[in-house]
Amino acid sequence: MRVHRVVCPGSFDPVTNGHLDIIRRAARLHDEVIVVVGANRAKHGMFSVDERVAMLEEVTADLANVSVGTFRGLLVEYCRDRGVSAIVKGLRAVSDFEYEMEMAQMNYRLAEIETLFIAANPLYSFLRSSLVREIAAYGGNVSSLVPPPVETRLRAKLAELAQG
Ligand code: ADP
Repeated sequence: MRVHRVVCPGSFDPVTNGHLDIIRRAARLHDEVIVVVGANRAKHGMFSVDERVAMLEEVTADLANVSVGTFRGLLVEYCRDRGVSAIVKGLRAVSDFEYEMEMAQMNYRLAEIETLFIAANPLYSFLRSSLVREIAAYGGNVSSLVPPPVETRLRAKLAELAQG
C-alpha cells in the first residue's frame, strides 16, 4: 500500500500554537507528516535552523507519525526525492490567500505536487512568528501563543541577545 506522506513547510522562527494546530490536524489526516524548516533565508531569523528543528521535535514528540526535517532550494525537489505527495499549509486570512495560491499553482506546475489548505483555527488566525518575537522582545506574555518549551527558549534567546 502506498504511504500517504505530506510536508508542512515554514520558517517556524519559532513554532507557534497556530503551526502546531495545523501539524496536529495534518497528522490526523495523513499517514506521515514531515515538518520542514526552510533553510534558504534562515540566517536573518532569530533562531538558527538547528534551534527551530529542536523546538519542533520537542513539541511534536507526542505525535508518532510526525518527523522534522530541513530543506534548502526548491521545496518541490525535496518532495520529489522523498515521495511526498502533497504540501499542507494553514490559511489564516484572505491576506494569506493570494501568495499561497500563487505558490500552490507554481509548485503544481513545477512538479505536479498538490497543495492542501487547512483553515486556521480562529483562535490562532492572528498569530504569526514575527508577532510572537516582537511581543516577547518587549516583555509581553506569550504563554497562550506558543508551547511552554518555546516560551522558555524565547526567554533564553532574548537574554542571550541582550548580553550581546
Ligand atoms: P509565520 O507566518 O508564522 O512566520 P511560517 O512561514 O513559519 O509562518 O508558516 C508556515 C505555515 O504555517 C504557513 O502555511 C502558514 O500559513 C502556516 N501558519 C502560520 N501561522 C499559522 C496560524 N496561526 N494558523 C494557521 N496556520 C499558520
